[in-house]
Amino acid sequence: RAKEEGRNGFRFFTDEMQARTDRALALFTALGFALERGQVALHYQAIVRVSDQTVVGAEALVRWTHPVLGKVSPAEFIPIAESGGQILRLGDWVMEQAVKQAGLWRQAGRELVVAVNVSALQFRHPDFVSRLEQLLSTHNLPARYLELEVTESLTMGDPQAAIATMQQLRTLGVSLAIDDFGTGYSSMNYLRRLGFNKVKIDQSFVHDIGADPDDEVIISAIIQLGQSLGMVTLAEGVESATQRDFLATRGCQLMQGWLVSPACPAQDFEAFLNTAPR
Ligand code: C2E
Ligand code: MG
Ligand code: MG
Ligand code: MG
Repeated sequence: RAKEEGRNGFRFFTDEMQARTDRALALFTALGFALERGQVALHYQAIVRVSDQTVVGAEALVRWTHPVLGKVSPAEFIPIAESGGQILRLGDWVMEQAVKQAGLWRQAGRELVVAVNVSALQFRHPDFVSRLEQLLSTHNLPARYLELEVTESLTMGDPQAAIATMQQLRTLGVSLAIDDFGTGYSSMNYLRRLGFNKVKIDQSFVHDIGADPDDEVIISAIIQLGQSLGMVTLAEGVESATQRDFLATRGCQLMQGWLVSPACPAQDFEAFLNTAPR
């Protein structure tokens, strides 16, 4: 009987694995055509001051609607695009859209910093910085209106190369943020030396404010360390007034999350801007 269960358990496991592999393969293939078929869009999520909810910027988040599978989360397809190399074309497209949009907003009198997520493969590309520079000049955007978000693991792979690229980006004048902070392994000191301007506290810590004292301690520590090292602190995934109030008392400067606004198309973001304090 135990043997039978074991066998069924095993069969179930392989079926599930197979389904997952089939889906990944379908996504992998479809990703190659997604851009030219107009299935990809860029959404924007407001970044606001914790103290008064003034909008200071937006994070660009990519969206993909597959004709059969429907909306696919970037959490699922970005890793696939990274493993297959499609992230380079996708990342170029995202960067161009975001820079163009930031330029348009600036022309319209809205000085918003647009934050763009950057994958390791993009970041390590030898032409990354020069092409970024080109893009900024094409769209007439001063570099300070662009922020790049990278993860700890991206900088850990080859620290020397990362330091060199970061130095070039700093010289260019773009802002640098460390994304999902607290989930990786690097030290604050190391991040400071890499020259990050901003620490984005991972939403997993924010989620349990009010429920998990350990997470509250971790958040407080990141805010204190970040500020004493001269970095702006931002909390991700803020969904409730309780979370916002906690962040306010701890002196966290910026936040983003559904409490303020979900990521939405540029047009909706503009409508939101018109109702937000400025
Ligand atoms: P991330 O950069 O940490 O982005 C924050 C994620 O939290 C986004 O998920 C956002 O929609 C979600 N979020 C925002 N507010 C809330 C909230 O109040 N509660 C909760 N539970 N979640 C919230 P999304 O859009 O699914 O993106 C997931 C990840 O995919 C991003 O994490 C980022 O790592 C990656 N990604 C998204 N767009 C791009 C892109 O253009 N390029 C690259 N390389 N990666 C991207
Ligand atoms: Mg991000
Ligand atoms: Mg994040
Ligand atoms: Mg994330």
